[in-house]
Amino acid sequence: MLKAIIFDLDGTLYLGDHALPGAPSVVSWARTHGYRLRFMTNNPRKTEAAYEKKLQRLDFDARRSEIITSTQLMVSYLDQVHPSRSETIFVVGEKVLRDAIQHAGYMLTTQGDAQIVIVGFDTTLTYHKLTIAYRALVQGAAFYATNPDMVCPTPDGGLPDAGTTLAALEAATKRSVQVVAGKPSSLLAQYLIRSLGVSSEECLVVGDRIDTDVRLGKDAGMKTCLVETGVTGTGPIPAQYQPDGRIRSVADLPQWIEQWPAT
Ligand SMILES: [Mg+2]
Repeated sequence: MLKAIIFDLDGTLYLGDHALPGAPSVVSWARTHGYRLRFMTNNPRKTEAAYEKKLQRLDFDARRSEIITSTQLMVSYLDQVHPSRSETIFVVGEKVLRDAIQHAGYMLTTQGDAQIVIVGFDTTLTYHKLTIAYRALVQGAAFYATNPDMVCPTPDGGLPDAGTTLAALEAATKRSVQVVAGKPSSLLAQYLIRSLGVSSEECLVVGDRIDTDVRLGKDAGMKTCLVETGVTGTGPIPAQYQPDGRIRSVADLPQWIEQWPAT
């Protein structure tokens, strides 16, 4: 039985700065029907508080404790794996990510002898930052990233995202990133299951992307429903990532859930 719904944000509930038609009512419908809710984003450039504000401004009944960003996941992973906080960290990322890591008690550095390198979506990326990260990584620093997305879709043509910086550093260092915190990681899936207090088959992931949203759900044994309002649109889907449902927009979700035999 379905107990929890995990919504992607951009391309699913809103597009840029506009709620998708009917999307706020669907979130209210889900809450009224007793589903536990989560709102997830791979974007590490804003805090959970900022997302809460945005969602509420767009008329969504969303609470801060239900919002999960890749920054929050990265910090939670550091806490699990580096609990002593004795390592120095170089962040290829923006202020929100650096602040969150520092507030969790970690020491940030801007030197090439960092023991951990964390790559995030960074619109302030410079050659200097790439050089520091490269030097730390070839000396054996741990190699993590907030999210794997190559491109962040925007109304004016998109932005190179963390995956692009990761690809450059992987090529230069001949190393592979060790852990990527955001979608579609098992780290996120475990975090969701733990925080929701449900089993994976009781969760439904609703999102617009195959490589992050649908893959997160499928790899973790959750149900998945693709909306056509975002990146995938009406395009083809690889056979191994066929979602359980495909709807034109999130506005059609209540009808889909009500007709779906597995719920
Ligand atoms: Mg999306």
